[in-house]
Amino acid sequence: MDFKEYIRVIPDFPEPGIRFKDITTLLKDGDVYREAIESIQKMVEDKEIDLIAGPEARGFVIGAPLALMMGKGFVPIRKSGKLPGNTVEADYGKEYGKDKLAIHRDSIQPGQKVLIADDLLATGGTIAATIEMIEQLGGVVVGAAFLIELGYLDGREKLKGVDVHSLVTY
Ligand code: AMP
Repeated sequence: MDFKEYIRVIPDFPEPGIRFKDITTLLKDGDVYREAIESIQKMVEDKEIDLIAGPEARGFVIGAPLALMMGKGFVPIRKSGKLPGNTVEADYGKEYGKDKLAIHRDSIQPGQKVLIADDLLATGGTIAATIEMIEQLGGVVVGAAFLIELGYLDGREKLKGVDVHSLVTY
């Protein structure tokens, strides 16, 4: 399946110069959405995984169905101030803007193997911050899986040592 056919590219959103990859056009087609998640599952099914973690909001749309299909738990990573329990936080910069992410301290036990899932790898800032927090909790990052990778931004470089998988590359 050519998933790119279902991803809409919107120029100059949310700011001039950014070519926004809009996945809502893929998600609204039930068969294509399912096939995308199943294809991501195939890329990582040989891995030993205890948990899948994904950053809000589109990381939930990829990570949660992947976790359900693989029979694993899902750990939400949220913007600072949104999680009700005790958290650790990490600052990050992304293709557009800066922010702070948080994860519940008790969401990962030391030694647990965590797969990170998100919609898109751009500069890698979001995932680098996610890795930092998971490792701070003693979790072991066994890989990162994406629907989309923007190869020209070299996000992989920032994630050296992490096994990166993506379904489509621009
Ligand atoms: P980064 O931290 O630079 O890898 O950016 C990752 C997050 O920002 C992704 O999870 C996307 O949700 C969002 N993002 C960055 N660039 C784009 C883009 N060109 N189109 C759509 N989403 C993007």
